[in-house]
Parts: sequence; C-alpha cells; structure tokens
Amino acid sequence: MVYSDFNELKISKLGLGMMRLPQTPEKKIDFEDSTKMIDMAIKGGINYFDTAYRYHDGESEVFVGEILSKYPRESYYLADKLPAWICKTRQEAEDIFAEQLKRCKTDYFDFYLLHSVDEESWPLIESFELVDYIKGLKEQELVRHLGLSVHCGPELLEMIFANHSDVFEFVQIQLNYFDWDYINAKELYNIARKYNKPVIVMEPLRGGTLANLPSERASKVLKEASEKSNMSPCSDASYGLRYLRQLEGVMIILSGMSTVQQLEDNIGIMDAQDLTETELTAVSEAAQILREDILVPCTGCNYCYECPSKINIPAIFKQYNESAIKSFTYIWDSLEDLYNKLGPNATSCIKCGNCEANCPQKIKITEVLQEVHQRFSEEIAKGKK
Ligand code: SF4
Ligand code: SF4
Repeated sequence: MVYSDFNELKISKLGLGMMRLPQTPEKKIDFEDSTKMIDMAIKGGINYFDTAYRYHDGESEVFVGEILSKYPRESYYLADKLPAWICKTRQEAEDIFAEQLKRCKTDYFDFYLLHSVDEESWPLIESFELVDYIKGLKEQELVRHLGLSVHCGPELLEMIFANHSDVFEFVQIQLNYFDWDYINAKELYNIARKYNKPVIVMEPLRGGTLANLPSERASKVLKEASEKSNMSPCSDASYGLRYLRQLEGVMIILSGMSTVQQLEDNIGIMDAQDLTETELTAVSEAAQILREDILVPCTGCNYCYECPSKINIPAIFKQYNESAIKSFTYIWDSLEDLYNKLGPNATSCIKCGNCEANCPQKIKITEVLQEVHQRFSEEIAKGKK
C-alpha cells in the first residue's frame, strides 16, 4: 500500500468508501460480506474509512459502529459528513452530529466534511453558520480535521477557499480520467492545488464505469498502449486508479467497492507500476471515446433513492448506457424483458423533483427518464417487426 503524509498522519492512498457495501436481496447491508471487506481492507493496509449520514439510508454509519469499533480506535481514520441540505435549522445539524457519533460508536471523527456542497446548499451553510459550528467541533476535539466534499462549480470553491482557507484543510472532489475534461473536475483540482489543499478523490472509477469499460473501442485503445509500452495487460480499473495515483496533490483515492474481489484487485493496483507516457496519452483518448459512447453520465451513486414511485433510476440509466453501446441488440435476452425487469419507469414518475434535487451530476432525471422510455419503447417495437 502507498501512504500519503497529512500533518502527522500516514494515510493509505486507497480509502474505503462505505456507500456501496455488499447488500442483501432486501437492499440492506450484507453485514457478513461487508465485515469480510473491512477485515481484508485493514489487512491490506487501508486505514481510511469514509461514511456519511445518508449512505445506505443511515445504515452505513451503524455498520461502522458495529464493525470498526472492534479495532483499536487509533489504528484507523474515520471520516463522516454533515448533510447541510437536509437541515432546516442549525439545531438539526447539531442533532445530526450527535447522532453520528452515537451510530458510529465513537467519541470523535478524524475527518469531518460538509457533505455535497453546491450552489444550493452553501446559502444554507452560511445562514446556519455551519462553518463556525464545525470549527467549534474541532476546538472541542470532537473532530480532528475539517474539509468539504463538493459538487459545485469552480467559482464557489474558489470563493470558499478565499474566505475559509484557515478552516478547510482538504477537499473531496469527483475526479477521474473521464470527468477531467467533462465536468469541471480539472478546474476544481486546479483550485485545490492553488490553495495547496490535499485532494480526496471520489468516484475514481465513475461508479464502476471505468472498472468495466462499456466501450470496446476505449478498452482496446488502453490495451494497445500497454502492449506498445511492453507492459502486461491490466484491468480497466488499473488505468483509472493509477492515473489518479500519479496526480500531484491527490491524498486519498476513495473507492466505493462492493465486493471482496474488487477490494483485493484495487489493493493490488495501488502497488503496480506507474502508467507510461504512451498509456497516459491513451487514457485521454479512451476518455474521449467514452464521452462519445455514453448517453447518461450517471455514476450510480443512488442519491436519488427516495423516489416515491420506486423508480430505480440508476439501474434504468445503467441499462440504457449498456444497451446503447450494444446498439440495443441482444442475442440471448429480449430488450423488453431487460427493461421490464427494472420495475417502474418514466410512466410512473409524478415529477415531484426529489431525485433532481439530490443528483450530484445535475442530470435532468425526469426528462432523461422520458427519453429513455421513448427510446426503449421504439427499440422494443422495432424488434417486434
Ligand atoms: S421526479 Fe419522478 S423519478 Fe424523480 S423522485 Fe419524483 S417520481 Fe421519482
Ligand atoms: S441519477 Fe444522479 S443521483 Fe441518481 S444515481 Fe445517477 S448520478 Fe446518482
């Protein structure tokens, strides 16, 4: 394992994000498999664990409390986050913090972040004076280091660091080779560098898309580059993680792994050789190809889970992207069956707006669901002719 220096700490460069833990068929955390993952992570040298109030509908923090508390508290770093966007008063934020300590069975968090800061949540943060509130938590030694996880534009991050550089010691941003030139990842990264703030990367493999490239063209470009560099062929995930590992200022790559196998692979990748110049060029080319091939930039984060019509939005978008790449042609499965298996779709949407309010990728979900439905209906009808 590679480690990053941060103040007096040595933090594993690969962190375990606990938003996509293994689940039971009832969509609850599978405690047995998830415990195996934690044990293996610790054995593999990972010492940074990241949870949040809303992950797994609150169950992630409870899991942390159950499982991590069997290890000595000083042997790992625990990060948690304050979801300002669900607070209606400052008191609610204070209550959430107290509940988080209780759920996680800890007296303090090593890292505490304002969660999912964007142009909508920042005014709330300011009006409830939450920056002062979390500063107070640090003074009381209830948290050790403060940061923020952002889904905002560059202007807001610049303004936050210009005004609160003394408070926020690091920033968590969505960074990967696909998003570098796609959303504003490069700009946010450059602002962090300008203010000398270490970067914690979220979505390093874009919700798994870069671990299993949905484009044969992109995958081929990467493999050919490795051959040209006389490197052994490696997994898709390896390109994504090594790309980030080489970026200056990246302190932690936080991966939300869902299986023991993924964890084992990713731990191995952290010790693999750096990408060659040829491979680095190929990564940019692969990103360009992926951007051409992918229809909906959904990361599968599931922040849109509170749909009153029980529409499984990430599953529909995933199926759509995969189907588009296969030109909506399946040999063994029927497109109709695949779509129907996903459950309620755009026709059940009541346009309440819950999903869009929570989507960090700012996807116009209701419109896209309609588009997807129309496209699937057309393709299914074509197949019946
Ligand atoms: S707008 Fe539609 S898809 Fe989104 S949460 Fe509401 S019902 Fe569900
Ligand atoms: S639609 Fe948005 S909120 Fe829902 S899973 Fe995709 S990226 Fe996440």
